[in-house]
Amino acid sequence: MNHDLRSYVSTLLKESIIKVFSVQGGDISKAYRIDTPKNSYFLKLNGAINAKKMFQSEAHGLQLIRKTSTIKTPKVLAYDTFEDTAFLLMEFIENKSPSSEDSKNLGLQLAALHKCTSEDFGLGQDNFIGSLAQSNTQHKTWLDFYIYERLLPQLELAQQKRLLSKNECPSIQKIEDVLESLFVDIKPALLHGDLWSGNYLISKDGTPYLIDPASYYGHYEVDIAMSKLFGGFDTSFYEAYFSNLKSDKNTSARIEIYQFYYLLVHLNLFGHSYYGSVFSILKKYF
Ligand code: ADP
Repeated sequence: MNHDLRSYVSTLLKESIIKVFSVQGGDISKAYRIDTPKNSYFLKLNGAINAKKMFQSEAHGLQLIRKTSTIKTPKVLAYDTFEDTAFLLMEFIENKSPSSEDSKNLGLQLAALHKCTSEDFGLGQDNFIGSLAQSNTQHKTWLDFYIYERLLPQLELAQQKRLLSKNECPSIQKIEDVLESLFVDIKPALLHGDLWSGNYLISKDGTPYLIDPASYYGHYEVDIAMSKLFGGFDTSFYEAYFSNLKSDKNTSARIEIYQFYYLLVHLNLFGHSYYGSVFSILKKYF
């Protein structure tokens, strides 16, 4: 981090900075821990053109979740640009690897978050999934929202990027026919929206925190689908979660359908290595 930015952050915090450490683990931004005499802060930096918008929507998602008082998120202190670099400054959470009890608490608190509802599916503002735009235009039905705001934009992007051909992509009618019988009695639930194992932290005292959200109101099984995409969380997480929210005979099919969105996102972000997983869902359902 350069000297000018360091002094700017120090002025913002109204504290002197003792030490700055690089933090590994982010896909998208550079990350730092900033220590002052009494506190620690977490700073993300990104020089991309849309980075300020990305940080703005991340801050909005963190605040939206925080306001529900169901599960914690780090407190956001500022987001802005300094020279040509966007930044997001928040509380630093000293963390540890999760015990089975911590995973249980994460499951219980996520279920509480998912009980927060709204009139419509979507959100008043768009956000990002990774570095890709994620449209949250509101719809009255989950079927419409999931087709028009989730699957179609990613299928179209994959065609533009020549990662899928037109023939491989199902028609709107076909998608509707498949999903209609699976999407029954679904109510809007506030989601994290990108819940893989790198997007929650357990603080040293065992408190779960959600980070890096791509929030909107959708079906609660979407967060479960993402949590299972790369290996899954601890069994105590799922036991606690499903003691609060119901599953039914179509849950496992819906989970694959929801993973399909994230796999398309990975295909569009990281390329052909995700084609095989995308193809097997296309073949199985469409
Ligand atoms: P990116 O948006 O680039 O993927 P993340 O928000 O996922 O970045 O942050 C990168 C890593 O930094 C995370 O995997 C996590 O380990 C750590 N991290 C994120 N936020 C905090 C925080 N508030 N306090 C402590 N560590 C954090």
